[in-house]
Amino acid sequence: MRQVTMLDLATEHKIFEDDIRAVVDTVLSNQKFINGPYVGELEAALRERTGAAAAVAVSNGTDALLCSLMALGIGPGDEVILPSFTFFATAGAVHRVGAKPVFVEVDRQTFNIDPQAVEAAVTDKTKAIIAVHLFGQCAEMDAIAEIALRRNIRVIEDAAQALGGTYHGRNACTLSDLACVSFYPTKNLGGYGEGGMVFAQDEALGTIVRQLRNHGESERYVHERVGGNFRLDTMKAGILLVKLSSWESFNERRRANAAMYDRLLAEAPVATPYVPSHIRHVYHQYSILCHQRDELRSFLADRGVQSGIYYAIPLHLQKCFEGLGYRRGDLPVTEELCDKILSLPCHPMLAEDDVDYVASCVHEYYASSELERPAIAAANQSR
Ligand SMILES: *Cc1c(COP(=O)(O)O)cnc(C)c1O
Repeated sequence: MRQVTMLDLATEHKIFEDDIRAVVDTVLSNQKFINGPYVGELEAALRERTGAAAAVAVSNGTDALLCSLMALGIGPGDEVILPSFTFFATAGAVHRVGAKPVFVEVDRQTFNIDPQAVEAAVTDKTKAIIAVHLFGQCAEMDAIAEIALRRNIRVIEDAAQALGGTYHGRNACTLSDLACVSFYPTKNLGGYGEGGMVFAQDEALGTIVRQLRNHGESERYVHERVGGNFRLDTMKAGILLVKLSSWESFNERRRANAAMYDRLLAEAPVATPYVPSHIRHVYHQYSILCHQRDELRSFLADRGVQSGIYYAIPLHLQKCFEGLGYRRGDLPVTEELCDKILSLPCHPMLAEDDVDYVASCVHEYYASSELERPAIAAANQSR
C-alpha cells in the first residue's frame, strides 16, 4: 500500500548530504562551535531575504519569543493579547516573563487572530499583541498595526510557520516590531536540531535582542540587563545555510501541492484553506475543516495516509492556564476549529500521485455519507 507521510526528512537529507558533511567537517576542523562565522552568515542571508533591519540567530523559536518579550520590557502586571488557536510556545513565553496572556478569537476562514477581537481585548495594561501567522499564512497585520499605533502597543509576529510568506507584497518578519522564527526540523526552513531567529525593524531593538541572547552582555563581562543563553550553535547555522539554498523552491512545491489539493477537493464536503489575494501562503500545513474529523483521520491512516491535528486543545482551555478563568464556550470559533481541523501531507518531497491519492481517499470516505459541506466551505464558495 502507498504510504504518504506528513514529512520526508530522510529523502530531503539526501539532497543536502554532501554539503552538510562539508559544513560539519569545517566546524570540526576550526572548532568554533559557538558564534563561528556561519552564525553571522545565516543572519545576513535571512536579513537580506526578508528585508528586516536586524536578524539575531537564537536557540529555538520559543526562545525567540521569550527574548522578544524581554527586549520589549514586558513582565508582571502587563497583558499580552494573542490567539488561543496556536502552538503552546506563543502563550508559554508570555507566562514565563510574568505577563498575563489574554486569549482572543481567530477569524474562522483564515484561522488567524481576529483584529476586532484584539480591539475589544485592549486594556490600559496591554503592552503587546502577538500575531501568529498560522500554518504559513500571514495574519491581518495592517489592522493589527493600526490598533497598536493608536493604543501605543507593540506587535510581535510569531512567524515560526511563515518564513517566506508575504502580506501585500511585504515579507513576513518585517510586519511588526519583532518577529520570531523557528528552525525546528519540521518547519519550512528546518534545521538539524533546535534553532530560531528574531528579526527587528529597528536596529536598536535588534541590539537589545543580541545582548539578551548572551546573558545581556553589552561588552565582555558587562551586563546591562539579564538575558540568558539563547545562542545558536555554529554547526546548526552552517547546516541551515545549506538548506536555505532550497528553501524557496521547497516553498513553491508546498504551494503547488496545495493548489492541487484545492482543485481535487473542491467538490468534497470539506473546507479547503481560504487565502485572501493579498497573502502568499507557504503552507507549513495544508489544513482543512471537515466533518467526522477523527473518523476521516483513521480512515486515511488505514490507507497509509498520515495526517495531523494542529491544534486539538485550544490554549485558553489548557490545564496550566486554568487560573486565568476561561471556560469552554468563551472562544467558540477557536473551539470549533479544534474539533474540525485536519492537516494533510503537503511537504516538498510529495509526488503528484501522492496528493492525488490523499485527495481520492478523502473523497472515498465521504462518498458513502450524505454530508453537507461545513458552513465555512459554503462561505468560501460564495466569494
Ligand atoms: C514551532 C513553533 C514555535 C516554537 O518553535 P520551537 O523552535 O519549537 O521552540 C512557536 N510558535 C509556533 C506557531 C510554532 O509553530
